Amino acid sequence: DIYLSFGANKTVYGLNSEKIDKIKYESSKYNIRLVECPVRHLGTEFAYDVLKKMYYHLIENTNTEFSELTNVQKIIEKDGKVKGVKVEKKGEDQYIEAKYVVVAPGRGGAEWWASESKKLNLKTVNNAVDIGVRVEVPNSIMDHLTKDLYEAKLVYYSDTFDNKVRTFCMNPGGVVSEEHYDDGSIAVVNGHSYSEKKLRTDNTNFAMLVSTSFTEPFDRPIAYGKYIAELGNMLTGGGIMVQRLGDLLKGRRTNYSRLKKSTTIPTLKSAVPGDLSFVLPQRHLTSIVESIKAFDKVAPGLYSKNTLLYGVEVKFYSSKFATNNNFETKIENLYTIGDGAGITRGLMQASTTGIVVARDISKKE
Ligand SMILES: Cc1cc2nc3c(=O)[nH]c(=O)nc-3n(C[C@H](O)[C@H](O)[C@H](O)COP(=O)(O)OP(=O)(O)OC[C@H]3O[C@@H](n4cnc5c(N)ncnc54)[C@H](O)[C@@H]3O)c2cc1C
Repeated sequence: DIYLSFGANKTVYGLNSEKIDKIKYESSKYNIRLVECPVRHLGTEFAYDVLKKMYYHLIENTNTEFSELTNVQKIIEKDGKVKGVKVEKKGEDQYIEAKYVVVAPGRGGAEWWASESKKLNLKTVNNAVDIGVRVEVPNSIMDHLTKDLYEAKLVYYSDTFDNKVRTFCMNPGGVVSEEHYDDGSIAVVNGHSYSEKKLRTDNTNFAMLVSTSFTEPFDRPIAYGKYIAELGNMLTGGGIMVQRLGDLLKGRRTNYSRLKKSTTIPTLKSAVPGDLSFVLPQRHLTSIVESIKAFDKVAPGLYSKNTLLYGVEVKFYSSKFATNNNFETKIENLYTIGDGAGITRGLMQASTTGIVVARDISKKE
């Protein structure tokens, strides 16, 4: 309701139960699970508009101050209660006293928060690490699924390793994009789509992620994901790699002349053709190829020589914080929410955790 009141699109996809049952029924023949999930699509351009309206609403009507280019470095606590934060702003240290602190650093700040939590003796558990590729195909291959679902959330357990592989963040008519972590030094792949028809492309892209849960003694899943991303960056001179599925299956790299022959035209123009088998562990690569082959049964044409695979896609939300039901940590009045706390994996859930905390604080006040 809040998003809608700030101008979000009212359309909800994934409600046509007859069509969904049909896709589900078809998928079940091939050991594929379709996760039912009604979604709204904001669209890249409207997401910006909606957030801008929220920003000005907060500035103009509430006592809110945004502090750009300000890095929280340390959470200050005394006798089990939070006292404030130490920040670095334009090269200078500042201390901000606070009765309540809500830590919501997103995926970009997840590693910082995981290491800071150790100093505060906060408990975290390892979530699964999600590593994989971004797949790009012509709209004609996915349209019959995305028309009703917008996002087809498919799950398959790979044949060789029995690893969970899932599709994530599907963008019909979308573009593949590059995002950066660690002050820009690590490039990983992502995707998005515009809402307006004229901005849509001829391609659909989505992530295929292999989920792995590490067991003790290993407790640095984010570092593991970054290491693999860096390996891909090393081979491309610092950017994203793209490979045709046909070349991967033939055990050869994609080069510029092979990429030119592709009938799927890459939407991420800066991607460098290469060989993902030098980057992804065998477990991930095999699981992805087996899953593409399986998903081809419900999206014929997916297992094709011109299906483009971009690497690597990594989701940095691997340390999940222990909190109570209102997302308060064991340190009194210190809350942690959103993707950076490993609690959510998307915009709406992250937003909802904020509401829960706001309600808890106003109740205490
Ligand atoms: C390309 C792309 C497409 C996406 N598409 C979708 C989609 O279609 N649907 C969906 O549900 N989700 C999507 N997401 C995910 C969605 O954006 C996130 O799930 C959501 O923004 C998480 O919200 P958050 O508040 O937890 O973190 P963020 O929105 O990441 O906010 C965290 C903020 O904290 C700041 N920060 C980090 N560390 C510090 C620090 N130490 N000090 C001060 N500030 C700090 C960061 O700079 C950032 O501004 C997409 C993400 C990307 C990148």
